[in-house]
Amino acid sequence: MQNHASHFRDRVKKAGSGAAVPAEMVEFYDGLFDYLQKQHAFYSASGLLPTLQPHDLPVADKGKHIFSEQSLRLLASGIEPLIRLMAAHHPGMTLEPLRGALEGGALSDFAGAFLTKDAGLLERLALTHKADRDQAVFIITNLLKPFLAALREANAGLVIQPDESRRLCPFCGHYPDMAAIVGVRDGKRFLHCSLCENRWPYRRIACAVCGCEDADKLEFLSREEYPRYRIDLCHACGGYIKTMRLDKFEDADACDLAVENICTPHFDAAALQAGFRRP
Ligand SMILES: [Zn+2]
Ligand SMILES: [Zn+2]
Repeated sequence: MQNHASHFRDRVKKAGSGAAVPAEMVEFYDGLFDYLQKQHAFYSASGLLPTLQPHDLPVADKGKHIFSEQSLRLLASGIEPLIRLMAAHHPGMTLEPLRGALEGGALSDFAGAFLTKDAGLLERLALTHKADRDQAVFIITNLLKPFLAALREANAGLVIQPDESRRLCPFCGHYPDMAAIVGVRDGKRFLHCSLCENRWPYRRIACAVCGCEDADKLEFLSREEYPRYRIDLCHACGGYIKTMRLDKFEDADACDLAVENICTPHFDAAALQAGFRRP
């Protein structure tokens, strides 16, 4: 996992960087990135992450069954600090029922429903445990993020066959949150996983949401003042993804797309306003 906390601070402080994080959110993301870093370091150093086999991928397909008792105990260590962070920055939020549910044995159900993208089950679980669905999604996302990133790194020897038509992360099975194109002309394009932070190559001309390759249906929006970014829109599915354009001499690995995603909410606003949505 990249050092998001330090990249975030650099990015927000740098004048003219185009970072559009509202002032009241800077402290929150600062805390969140610190939290992710600490949990990731803890999981990586624990020596308790499972060894996966090729048939275990993408891990989302196993839903709640990817978590052994040991993995659940590891994951549970992240609940209290994350809830505390949320509560400190959102004083009106009632998070106790959710915390009680996750610490009381519902963690694997919530995580499994989230990983398998079972929106109906997530809704029912939130209702059963008197928790807010969106808050539950936020908490589960950030609980799983450092765990899955550490799990992926611990299993880096697993060979994943390259397939440029994969729209979901080949390791964890989740959606990408950003794309990047390296080199301005015939550069390679890759997608960045919103959960385990994996990157994988993807077709240059195809929607990252539905896979549509019809150039007439694909469009991108860019603004002169932000030459490093564009929004790829698809008229076939109504989806969009934010894309960073990297110079061909730039080290693509040094670019922190998780931080870029947080620093560019104005592009999301523009896409949503134009009637497009994220998966
Ligand atoms: Zn992933
Ligand atoms: Zn599409």
